[in-house]
Amino acid sequence: MKINKEMGCVFCEIARKERDAFIIYEDELFLSFLDINPRSLGHALLVPKRHVSRLEELNEEEASQIAKSLKNVMSILKEKLNAGGFTIAIDNGEFAGQEVKHLHVHIIPRYRRGPAIIAAFPVIGELKERLHEIHKVITGAS
Ligand code: AMP
Ligand code: ZN
Repeated sequence: MKINKEMGCVFCEIARKERDAFIIYEDELFLSFLDINPRSLGHALLVPKRHVSRLEELNEEEASQIAKSLKNVMSILKEKLNAGGFTIAIDNGEFAGQEVKHLHVHIIPRYRRGPAIIAAFPVIGELKERLHEIHKVITGAS
């Protein structure tokens, strides 16, 4: 039997409406529903309806739509829950700690001043000294 990645994928099941979820937004290509382990009031996930595991696997149409869908979900949460700010995060790939292998954007409303997620990544002094060299590797500039 051919095994494809959509089989047994929880977020594909939600997208196909075979599994219950607290859906808050839907368009042609994306769906948003509440995270079952909320990190804040209204913590939602935005997922492509088509199964891809990582951001770089989106097709052109999905890639140009994702920011619009994200913006729409944020507007809803701002209006309905009075969110004062947002943390937007993707654990993209195993190295980034991704648990569910179907791309999802965490949309975490913020209601008071609090920690930045980037604080989880301390500044590495040695790399700060090597910015010129690293820029050269990436761009080929001299
Ligand atoms: P991560 O892959 O590290 O971004 O984590 C997966 C996220 O998906 C976690 O925050 C889970 O709480 C959430 N999650 C897993 N299953 C479901 C589900 N059936 N409905 C809503 N959220 C889910
Ligand atoms: Zn899937």
